[in-house]
Amino acid sequence: MDYINAHCAICGAGYHVCQSCLETRQFKPWRTVTDTVSHFKNSILHDFEIRSVDRQAARDALAECDLSDLDIYLPEIQARIEEILHS
Ligand SMILES: [Zn+2]
Repeated sequence: MDYINAHCAICGAGYHVCQSCLETRQFKPWRTVTDTVSHFKNSILHDFEIRSVDRQAARDALAECDLSDLDIYLPEIQARIEEILHS
């Protein structure tokens, strides 16, 4: 059975990253950050945190994201999304 060696930056779920994912550099290595592609897209939050995008751009990017499972996200991630969408 695959062991857990990573935790999603968005929802906190534990998952397994295989060694070849970790070593793959030619693709966006979303497996090293989040457990699913949609959660990787939601990592726009990280870009917002480090000020590489402004609030409106972050809001536009979030509008493209699947937020249907927002309730399983880490509490601080939920709070940041609410703040971006409603401030
Ligand atoms: Zn996740």
